[in-house]
Amino acid sequence: MSSTSTNSPGKLVVISGPSGAGKTTLLKRMYTQSRRPLVAAVSATTRKPRPGEVDGADYHFISQEEFRRRREKGEFLECFEVYGRGDWYGTLQSEVAPRLAAGKWVVLEIDVQGTLAVLKHYPDALTIFVQPESIEELDRRLTSRGTETREQIERRLEVARREMVEADRYLYRVTNHDIDAAVARLCEILDQ
Ligand code: 5GP
Repeated sequence: MSSTSTNSPGKLVVISGPSGAGKTTLLKRMYTQSRRPLVAAVSATTRKPRPGEVDGADYHFISQEEFRRRREKGEFLECFEVYGRGDWYGTLQSEVAPRLAAGKWVVLEIDVQGTLAVLKHYPDALTIFVQPESIEELDRRLTSRGTETREQIERRLEVARREMVEADRYLYRVTNHDIDAAVARLCEILDQ
């Protein structure tokens, strides 16, 4: 049983890292193994679902028009166009504030620019950067995943190169060279 009761304030946990660094698998295991009352904030995005992705679980998949309308109404804690290809991603306030108030540890999986925006509102957020062993390893993982064209992969690698330079803005960095070790390290960071 966690020592955090529903009367305790919650905690914001922000996790970033290049897509394809094995983040999703790592985080799935983190949710089941950590002693903290973790809950994922489901982001909204205008990008199309990949095969197997579920609306409301992986993302709230919404149209460009709805995204713009909700952005104008101030519903996002942060939102950005990621990868410069016209797709928007954002964290809805409704996914965060009520859960923090209920004592949850709310986990955001967002990019570096989103993290910097969130830190302005929640300067004591716990920030963790999950990185691959190398850009070559990331290229290999993205290529074998087979969900993107070569051009899309090149763009992601370019973003990853830029993001890895910014990784030292995070409180913790976890390298995903061994899945068990990386999960253990994540849980150690959360549970300390
Ligand atoms: P995906 O591979 O799911 O298309 O894209 C993931 C990229 O968008 C990742 O870098 C992820 O961290 C980022 N991302 C996902 N949700 C959000 C969000 O709500 N806000 C921001 N700023 N980035 C997000």
